[in-house]
Parts: sequence; structure tokens; C-alpha cells
Amino acid sequence: MSVLDNSIEQLAQQVSSGDVSAAQCVDASIAQIRAQNDSLNVMISDCEDAARERAASIDAKIAAGENAGPLAGVPIAIKDGICTAGHVTTAGSKMLENFAPPYDATIVQRLNDAGAICIGKANLDEFAMGSSTENSFFGVTKNPWSTECVAGGSSGGSAAAVASGIAPASIGSDTGGSIRQPASFCGITGIKPTYGRVSRFGLIAFASSLDQIGPMARSAKDCAILMNVLSGHDVKDSTSARNDVPDFAADCEQDIKRLRLGICRQHFEEGLNEEVKASVEEAIKALESLGAETVEIDLPHTKHAVATYYVVAPCEASSNLSRFDGVRYTSREPAEKLIDMYSQTRKVNFGEEVIRRILLGTYSLSSGYDHELYKKASQVRRLIKNDYDAAFEKVDVIVGPTVPTTAFKIGQHAQDPLAMYLADIYTASANLAGVPGISLPCGFSSDGMPIGLQLQSNMFWESTLLKAAHQYQTQTDWHSKRPQS
Ligand code: GLN
Repeated sequence: MSVLDNSIEQLAQQVSSGDVSAAQCVDASIAQIRAQNDSLNVMISDCEDAARERAASIDAKIAAGENAGPLAGVPIAIKDGICTAGHVTTAGSKMLENFAPPYDATIVQRLNDAGAICIGKANLDEFAMGSSTENSFFGVTKNPWSTECVAGGSSGGSAAAVASGIAPASIGSDTGGSIRQPASFCGITGIKPTYGRVSRFGLIAFASSLDQIGPMARSAKDCAILMNVLSGHDVKDSTSARNDVPDFAADCEQDIKRLRLGICRQHFEEGLNEEVKASVEEAIKALESLGAETVEIDLPHTKHAVATYYVVAPCEASSNLSRFDGVRYTSREPAEKLIDMYSQTRKVNFGEEVIRRILLGTYSLSSGYDHELYKKASQVRRLIKNDYDAAFEKVDVIVGPTVPTTAFKIGQHAQDPLAMYLADIYTASANLAGVPGISLPCGFSSDGMPIGLQLQSNMFWESTLLKAAHQYQTQTDWHSKRPQS
């Protein structure tokens, strides 16, 4: 057994009490990267030297009797779209192949202050655009449960890092499902917090009104401990919320008697794989046996979520990505004229999917089409939010599948972007509405691939999600299954 098999709480306690050293945690994590990365392609870069230095300073602090923080010595993999000072941050793109940011993202600073150790940067779809990490310039991440399958995306590296035992926790970002979908595909737990709960400062922007950073780990309790560290107002992010931050980990211990669970008809219609459906229905029964009550609800506009998302997100992306012009950041293609330098740089350094999104976004914002596309999408977005508001008058949590299928085969949707976009069908609406959602394991398909359950709640009700997920995990052991390596 590796020290990293412990829960985050146990691990931090063992490190704080001196039973295990932070250096041992880093060694275990690096050993696992060496053993797994060649076959899975989980990490784009490691931070071995910096991690060892951090471990030494944490161990010295503990030896001197100081408090090393609630995450003392816990190795964490960080999605490579999140800035780490002085350490290459690529966003999975050739455009940023050699970009070392001059500052840390706020969440990186918070993790460091809590004693966590960044063990390396995890693979992702280029600029977080995708559902499979097949769009990474650095190659696809394979699923630790079957190397023929994708790990999901865009935080596929972060999910696979946890599933393969490289780190007990990782950080992802979720714009339309990118924490929850790979968590579902890799059999781990991941939460997209409420928009504004966690600072986006230092997250390389994809679609700023949808992007949200969140934790991925083996259990809801571990996610709750991380949420305690990550959450809170940040002056450096103008959309950061000022709401009080509860003690998510303590709240996990409350029961879920009389919790009202909403079952949405639209989540169980055609397209949902039968085995996924059966596991989700079992999970709902398990939640009922813990005292929760079910109520039928309707989210009538949710069927437009994917179409709406694929207008709003590319519009924002086309604007955010205009900064990669060859003048700033690292990549530049030579040309006689300035305008050619811009276009050559972008043509050579952006991948196909990123170019597709920029074209879709600029088209949807261009004069004459903006009303029909961007404005219309913004209006439908409001209707989706209204559906949630009405639902949360009746229920506390909405329960359903995270994704209609288990992890698909590498290459299966490569030539069909629309089929790929449908992987977001149950997740994108939470981003459009700003509400939080968690994915947790609830079973396996007959071919041994993990199935994910999604719980969504009203704005700033993450405690309820984490508590329901944690209580479910005290009754079931899907989350403690590990792939054979
Ligand atoms: N799969 C979605 C997309 O490609 C969501 C990505 C994300 O959440 N970052 O846009």
C-alpha cells in the first residue's frame, strides 16, 4: 500500500504528526508518474525539483513544531491551463509550449499556503476545448481503466492522475462539463463549484462567464476538504463572490433525511445508455434509503443547453483567444507584414478544434448574425436558468447521469465534432446557469468502465451536494475501486 492510498485528511494528519514525511509523499507520487506516464500520458510536465524543495520545507516546519496546514504534504496535480509561477503552463497548446507565467493562480497560492505540493501539470484539451483530451497538442491521455478509451476532457489528465494513483487529488476546470465528465469516465469524484465561488485568477480563460475551477479526488469528503481551501473571495477576480464559505468538510457529516431529490424526465430520455441508466436508478434508491425523498421535476429548456453552450462558449473564446497574436506570449511566426505575422502565428500554433471554435465564435458575433445567434443564445441561457430557479423551489438537489455513456474509444468521435459535443448534454446547463454540480462513481458497465452520477443544486449550495455525495459514499464502495495497473 502506498501512503497516497490514504484519504487526504489521514495523509495530512500523518504528515503533520511526523508519521509520514512530505518527502515520502513526493517520492511516492513521482514513482507513480514514472510507472504510469509512458503508457497513460497523464502529466505534461512534472515539478520534481520544486516539489522536493517544498517537501523539505514542510518537513522542516513540522520538525520545528509549526502547523503546516490542512493539506500538509498532499501531492496535487494541476491542470495545465492554470498558471504556476516560473513553471511552464501550456494550456495544452503549441501556442504556449514555452510559456512560463510570472505569477501563480490564486488557487495555486491557496493550495501552497495550505501545505499542498504541486507535483506537476496535467494534460488537457487545447485551451480546455474538448471532451477527450484528444485535442491536446501533447497527445491523448488514456483512461487508467482501459487504455483503449479516452479519460474524458478537458480535465482528462487531472482525472487520470487521481484514478491512476499519481496524486490523491487534482485541480480541474469546468466550462461545460470538464471536471464532471472526466471524473465520470475515470471513476473519481469531481465538483464544479458555483460560478464565482472559486477564483479564476490565473486560469487561462476559455469562456469567462462559464469557466470555474474545482477539485477532483477519490471521495466527496476529500473534495470537501479541498473546497475549504479553494473557496472564497478574491480581489483579483472581478466575478468572485463575496458569499460566506461554510466548512464543507464538517457539513458532510450531516444526514440527508428528507432531502428533496429532483428527478428530471429530460435526463432519462433517448440517448442514455441502458447500463448507465440502471446504475443511476440504483443510486437514487440508495439515496432514498438514506432518507431522501424523490420528486419529479421538469427542465424543459435543458434540451437546448448544448446548442446554447456551443454559441456562447465559442463567442467568448474567440474574444479571449485574440490575445495570442504572436506579439505577446511565446510563439511567433515570421512574416513581412504585421497582419501576416498575426495570421501565420495563429494558423501554425492553434489546433483544428481551437480554430473551429474561433471561427464559430467570430461568425456568431459578426454584425448581422449576432442577434440571431449570440443574443438568441443569451436569451435561451436565461430560460435555462429560470428552469433551475423553478426546480429549486421544489427540490434541494437534482439527480441524474453525468454523461449518457461510459468512456468512449480513442478516435471514436475524432471525425465527428457534433457527436463529441453531445458528451456535454447533461453538464453544460449547470455552467450556463452558474449552479454547482458534482459527479461521483455509481457503478460499472459490463466491460468494466466507470459510470458517474451527477448531483446539481442551487447557487452556493455545494455543502448539500458534498453531503449527499459523502453520505452515499458511506453506503457504497464504488469510489474505492481502483483500476489494475
Ligand atoms: N466539452 C466542452 C467543450 O468542449 C466543455 C469543455 C470544458 O468544460 N472546458 O467545450
